[in-house]
Amino acid sequence: MVLADLGRKITTALRGLSNATVINEEVLEAMLKEICKALLEADVNVKLVKRMRENIKSVIDFEEMAAGLNKRRIIQSSVFNELCKLIDPGVKAWQPVKGRANVVMFVGLQGSGKTTTCSKMAYHYQRKGWKTCLICADTFRAGAFDQLKQNATKARIPFYGSYTETDPVVIAQDGVEKFKAEGFEFLVVDTSGRHKQEESLFEEMLQVSNAITPDNVVFVMDATIGQACEAQARAFSEKVDIASVIITKLDGHAKGGGALSAVAATRSPVIFIGTGEHIDDFEQFKTKPFVSKLLGMGDIEGLIDKVSELKLEENEELIGKLKQGQFTLRDMYEQFQNIMKMGPFNQIMGMLPGFGADFMSKGSEQESMSRLRKMMTIMDSMCDQELDHPQGHKLFQRQTTRVSRVARGAGVSVRDVQDLLTQYSKFAQMVKKMGGIKGLFKGGDMSKNINPSQMAKLNQQMAKMMDPRVLHQMGGMSGLQNMMKQFQQGSTQGHKRGGGGGS
Ligand code: GDP
Ligand code: MG
Repeated sequence: MVLADLGRKITTALRGLSNATVINEEVLEAMLKEICKALLEADVNVKLVKRMRENIKSVIDFEEMAAGLNKRRIIQSSVFNELCKLIDPGVKAWQPVKGRANVVMFVGLQGSGKTTTCSKMAYHYQRKGWKTCLICADTFRAGAFDQLKQNATKARIPFYGSYTETDPVVIAQDGVEKFKAEGFEFLVVDTSGRHKQEESLFEEMLQVSNAITPDNVVFVMDATIGQACEAQARAFSEKVDIASVIITKLDGHAKGGGALSAVAATRSPVIFIGTGEHIDDFEQFKTKPFVSKLLGMGDIEGLIDKVSELKLEENEELIGKLKQGQFTLRDMYEQFQNIMKMGPFNQIMGMLPGFGADFMSKGSEQESMSRLRKMMTIMDSMCDQELDHPQGHKLFQRQTTRVSRVARGAGVSVRDVQDLLTQYSKFAQMVKKMGGIKGLFKGGDMSKNINPSQMAKLNQQMAKMMDPRVLHQMGGMSGLQNMMKQFQQGSTQGHKRGGGGGS
């Protein structure tokens, strides 16, 4: 069962709880049975599922629960917490330090996605403004250097490798030295894999690691191998000090449960996930937002991060307008252009409450993109007066011939134009709310400029944009807010793991 299905099944089970008239042991049992079945079908380890079930049952004591307490909510939040525990080893993820050389070494079996993921990670940090480079220390696989070179060239990332040198240790060392001397901040070292865990691979891995003393060893795990992940993760972590995990191929038909729950065996946090072959198909991994997304509850934090990446604060004109509560159709057009630049549209949509699971599967990416393009085509048929009107939708309401003119011009139906205007008025409300938050756009990082109560207001606004049917399924507004609050409270606990990996 793919992850999107898992999310849907758990949501359905939780909804059963909301629909039940009385909450008792029997109802809880039925719900747990459904959830556990779904987890097992998604390849989550039997022992972990059993433990999760016991944990939830131990939290819920029907006799002790005061009558006034909301049992539904307690059960729902304990399910949420247990799902988080399943994939969260409770160890804080390694963070690179700006202004010095951070060496990241990749390990994993052949075909797990190392080379692809190296490029994705380098690209990710490059876009965030780090001075980044790639080093190919894979001399085992024919064509390995060409593959990395191709990726690096496409993404304009400086790279190092050799066609003649056969010792990976020498290449890794030379590359790291060279780039360190040139003041690079983020050095990614790709290594070779083998078809299975074998001594020669581990031997080589250790030698490279000793030579370059990486700050972070990333173990790349292929989600498609399901239950086998656990043994593999264990074998690698026994040999080398894995500091982080990246799970690849979580798109398509991967039964991601096996990989996600195998992470516990490494005692290292998942830092990113790969969701496709393209360099953009890469997402930062945080447990709570991930589970929240899986259950279709949205990821406001992630959304704000994405919006921060747009460097809106550099768009002084827009900020000025927003502060005055203005947001025109033209502004929306420009924001759509930005969204297209932001990378995979599904990633953004998946962060909106009510969209999660569906947008985690790749299929609808094309559709979403074409929907967005269609909206832009419609706006292309509008005149300046319409685009720049402070309340464009009202202008159209007053003079309805404008609607038919635009529809004709764009080759769409009147209904399509009306839909766009409705979308705009909702979107404008939301954006104005954001603009009204004082200081939101100050400095680079929006997420640091926003306090919990403002966050709650944004969530509320976000919920208003959602399809009311979806909202209803999620237990209405109060249910949503409560969930959101829980997710935002206290980020993952745990102590910081030493950065100086190596061995
Ligand atoms: P390596 O042998 O570990 O270096 O693995 P590669 O980077 O060469 O990847 C092996 C194959 O997996 C390639 O065909 C990649 O395009 C593919 N791949 C890597 N990551 C992902 C992912 O997240 N999703 C999908 N669908 N394919 C991936
Ligand atoms: Mg490779």
